[in-house]
Amino acid sequence: MVFALSACGSSSGSTNNKLKVVVTNSILYDMAKEIGKDHVDVHSIVPIGTDPHEYEPLPTDAKSVAKANLIFYNGLNLEVGNGWFKKMIDSAGRSSDYNKNIFAVSKGVTAIHLNSEGQEKQIDPHAWLDIQNGIKYIRNMEKQMAKQDPNHGDAYHKNADAYVKKLEDLDKEAKEKMAAIPEQQSYLITSEGAFKYFSRAYGLHPEYIWEINTEEQGTPDQMKRIIGIIKKHKVPHLFVETSVNPKSMDTLSKETGIKIYSKIFTDSLAKKGKDGDTYYGMMKWNLDHIYDGLSN
Ligand SMILES: [Zn+2]
Repeated sequence: MVFALSACGSSSGSTNNKLKVVVTNSILYDMAKEIGKDHVDVHSIVPIGTDPHEYEPLPTDAKSVAKANLIFYNGLNLEVGNGWFKKMIDSAGRSSDYNKNIFAVSKGVTAIHLNSEGQEKQIDPHAWLDIQNGIKYIRNMEKQMAKQDPNHGDAYHKNADAYVKKLEDLDKEAKEKMAAIPEQQSYLITSEGAFKYFSRAYGLHPEYIWEINTEEQGTPDQMKRIIGIIKKHKVPHLFVETSVNPKSMDTLSKETGIKIYSKIFTDSLAKKGKDGDTYYGMMKWNLDHIYDGLSN
């Protein structure tokens, strides 16, 4: 493999020479591109704006998986709805390549479990919403990319260092800002309960209509529960994610009289060219809008 890559040379510009990376979603796509830049050819499976918990891969995805030097997935229970990731790996004949070519980028993250009754043993997958975890993802990817393609190892390390520095600055700035939100206004209400890691990092109380996208969404019991919680606290605004159906949050807003402040990003980046079309951009958007929405 290493020989094949170096034998082809790196200057011809053909995608055939590049490290072939497959990732499961747009957030991991952006991270892989930031680390690999022109040395990698990255294929992302779940389209922008689509829920990565449950997905049906296309024939082109299976083709990319079959040829990939590296396959990165989130892990922590993300790509498990309808078993799509495992099925895809199996059908591409790659099931013996875990920890050789296939890696969970969340390795080393301190997991948080779900808290709904009967689900306490399940892990919440949304670790990337804490920038410090995002940095772990980036370091894990950097390490495997440099191992698979040592000719460009220096570039991968240099790119990752610059990227991590930028994220560290954003994280530090956000922590200082968020600390100013009064305790009684620090309830962050979203559709899916995706903000546990985020809230642990930035000192907020996360609440939700449904806890994870793989369960039923917006049932009468779920609505009753969240309305009860909202009534007990001073919630300045609600937020709705770009990768869920906004219907339930609209209903919640009507029933409580609390306005939806803005969309925020959880399981997908924005479309290219829009605000939030990179991991850094989506985190900055979330931090800025959540701060503004809870402060005002
Ligand atoms: Zn999710």
